[in-house]
Amino acid sequence: KDYVAGFPKESDMHVKTGSIKLKLAEDESSDNAVLVKNLYLSCDPYMRGRMTNSPVDDPDFSPFTPGSPIVGHGVAEVVDSRNPGFKKGDLVWGRKMGWEEYSLIKEPEKLFKIHSTDVPLSYYTGILGMPGMTAYFGFYQVCSPKKGERVYISAASGAVGQLVGQFAKLMGCYVVGSAGSKEKLCNFYATLLLYLLFDWRDLIERFNLEHVSWLDFDSAFMVYKVELLKSKFGFDDAFNYKEEHDLVAALKRYFPEGIDIYFENVGGKMLDAVLLNMRFHGRIAACGMISQYNLQQPEGIQNITTVVFKRIRLEGFIIFDYFDQYPKFLDFVLPYIREGKIVYVEDINEGLEHGPSALIGLFSGRNVGKQVVKVTNE
Ligand code: NDP
Repeated sequence: KDYVAGFPKESDMHVKTGSIKLKLAEDESSDNAVLVKNLYLSCDPYMRGRMTNSPVDDPDFSPFTPGSPIVGHGVAEVVDSRNPGFKKGDLVWGRKMGWEEYSLIKEPEKLFKIHSTDVPLSYYTGILGMPGMTAYFGFYQVCSPKKGERVYISAASGAVGQLVGQFAKLMGCYVVGSAGSKEKLCNFYATLLLYLLFDWRDLIERFNLEHVSWLDFDSAFMVYKVELLKSKFGFDDAFNYKEEHDLVAALKRYFPEGIDIYFENVGGKMLDAVLLNMRFHGRIAACGMISQYNLQQPEGIQNITTVVFKRIRLEGFIIFDYFDQYPKFLDFVLPYIREGKIVYVEDINEGLEHGPSALIGLFSGRNVGKQVVKVTNE
């Protein structure tokens, strides 16, 4: 509705209904355009920055227009086209999808056509889309990894982190990740009642609980992100950073000989603690700093001088700069998915009306894996 200060709230956004013509007009304004039906929308932390009215040089990060649909990455089907490169029925993904049922894309050259449909279409918002490329180029190019190196990843169970960890394992690295854990949905007695009232298989499916240990009744409805890191993504170790009072000591426990590579997703206190645990000539890929996105004033980094003394390379990157290398990335990652050597966890909310809660859930860690919104619940 308006620009946002502090943590975004559901009430900062609203759902509007209206009508739309499902045929492009033969006029100038839609020349070259394609009309798409949106299927899946991607919830990404960087969208928070676009809810603030701060001018930026980069058009990809320019402020949203209050009252207009949010714009972001998504997967869609072409319903009409005035562009010779696209025809009705084509499946596409890209970064100009509106959070609406249908979008008019005026720069279709920025869309990618989807050719492989033997994998879930929603993957093009995640592992086969922008977050997948972020993990791939961020790890292999920015981190310059070597076999046997010690890798630490924060926000490790998310859209990007879960892949960085798996890429690092493929390379033969020692990998530790940190994550928070989802709130407990209910206690032991409520769990027992649910067992008695419902079909438990339905509950497992509904709450995505395949990975939960059923021996531990009390935690039956606690989705341990930390547990996912080890059991699903094959990390060597993992910890819940919310349970650690002393992050420096926690990291020392998992990396007694120090960290070679830090894949930075959260910033703030975590970055400060990591700096004290880095090895000489270590590398830090500054991918994102989600802990800072809702603050009026970013936290200062106390230990930054470590970068100098330990000869650390700290490098920021924005994945949009690598989009021209998309085919190379696809050739790499698709075979691993098909062979089941890389897995991907998604958190899909159904219905556009659930978009606001899904988006703000990123900032409290409510998502387990890549947060996606399926536009219609047909
Ligand atoms: P995630 O799927 O990981 O979702 C965000 C997660 O961040 C939450 O689930 C939560 O996990 C964690 N989080 C939220 N608030 C905090 C906080 N205050 N402190 C610590 N952790 C927090 O998101 P993505 O994988 O899509 O993005 C991860 C990072 O990568 C972000 O910083 C994002 O901006 C960045 N990014 C950068 C790109 C680039 O081009 N450089 C491209 C894409 C993403 P938990 O419960 O574990 O705390």
